[in-house]
Amino acid sequence: MKYTASEIISVGTELLLGDIINTDAAFLARELAALGIPCYHQSVVGDNPARLRASLELALSRSDLIFLTGGLGPTADDLTKETAAAVMGKTLVLHEPSYARIRAILAKRNLPETENQKKQAMLPADAFVFDNDYGTAPGFAMTAVCQAGEKTMILLPGPPRELEPLFSERVRPYLAAQTEEMFYSMNIGMYGIGEAAVGHILRDYMEHGQNPTVAPYCGEGEVRLRLTARGKTEEECRALCHAVAARIRDVSCEPYKPGTMNDYIWGMDCDSLQEALVMLLRRKHLTVSAAESCTGGYVAKRITDISGASEVLSGAYVTYSEKTKMAMVGVKAETLQKYSVYSAEVAVEMARGCRLAVGADIGIGITGVAGTSDAQVTQDGEEITVAAGTVYIACTDGVHVTAERLELPPGRRVQTEAREFVRRRASSHALFMALRMAENL
Ligand code: ATP
Ligand code: MG
Repeated sequence: MKYTASEIISVGTELLLGDIINTDAAFLARELAALGIPCYHQSVVGDNPARLRASLELALSRSDLIFLTGGLGPTADDLTKETAAAVMGKTLVLHEPSYARIRAILAKRNLPETENQKKQAMLPADAFVFDNDYGTAPGFAMTAVCQAGEKTMILLPGPPRELEPLFSERVRPYLAAQTEEMFYSMNIGMYGIGEAAVGHILRDYMEHGQNPTVAPYCGEGEVRLRLTARGKTEEECRALCHAVAARIRDVSCEPYKPGTMNDYIWGMDCDSLQEALVMLLRRKHLTVSAAESCTGGYVAKRITDISGASEVLSGAYVTYSEKTKMAMVGVKAETLQKYSVYSAEVAVEMARGCRLAVGADIGIGITGVAGTSDAQVTQDGEEITVAAGTVYIACTDGVHVTAERLELPPGRRVQTEAREFVRRRASSHALFMALRMAENL
């Protein structure tokens, strides 16, 4: 690797004041780790040229690759570029292609051309420009040789919706080209196991200097592993990733969880659990239906987020009351009476009922308490409280039936977030159960 030490400097007074969270630095740090580029420092500086200059000089004394985020825009407080160029001994000239792009964007938005806008297209003459398809200010790299050796600074716009795609689409290939290597990443999606457990179980794979690098990312109830390989060709990188992915599948999860990693993996190179399910169902020409209570249609929503959903979901139900559970998906009054609406038995009847009602291969039933604890009368007439986050999920293919009880305590979340948390987690669990059932069909 050409770069031996990198660092990230985020510019913006609003970051120093705590008004916004420095997600740019977190994003870049993760990306650099995945690329195997060591990153030893992160700092935040306000929109102040003297202090920024001091930070840049310190960075140049210890790093050969310096990322700067923010302050590339058209306003007077956007000073990152001017300050960094001065420190690197560069003068700014108008970069015509960038200016043409900015003018085209302004024309489309019916905005006047101003000197401020032109300022965004002023770049060092020898800059390597990263065209910004997501905003006006381009990013760029500049390199200078100083006493301490060759130094590169990469400047990127602050808004994450610009910085993140710009990095993935333009900066990554630039970094790879510097080293005549290429990077290739693949994702492994997992459910039912936490990030900390994955970190322990796969610690040998995550040691520094591995190729591919393996890094876990955490979502709500889902963990994603990103494998990034370095190599001469894409085939070589792909082979490295696939070999390690195959080994990871067989790694035992004991003592943290039963089984092997394979038991928790829902897909490779696939963006979401719902996409994995839709792809699998399409491949197998299977269909699914759902009868949902506390998730309010979340399972159906997530399936219909995926293009091609119409082939696998012909219909689904939101049966919120006991009445609609009986009328729409045929839950029996006796079952409700005997086991109460919050029960595995009712979830199973919902799964069976919606499956039959639309003629699907797989039926999913979900009943539970999303936000507020609810009272429930037991068979013996005793009133008990069902805690928020208690959810029963069932899945059936007409022959096999699986049913599970989940406890998803929403913790200290406020009411709206608590409901969202329970619904999202419960829907993920249901999608995962349906996926496992479809795998066996
Ligand atoms: P613009 O052209 O939008 O002004 P810019 O490159 O000048 O872009 P800033 O002015 O520093 O960037 O920040 C613009 C917005 O981008 C901020 O208000 C904030 O919402 C977001 N932003 C800036 N820096 C960061 C950061 N480090 N992490 C997350 N968001 C950031
Ligand atoms: Mg700005």
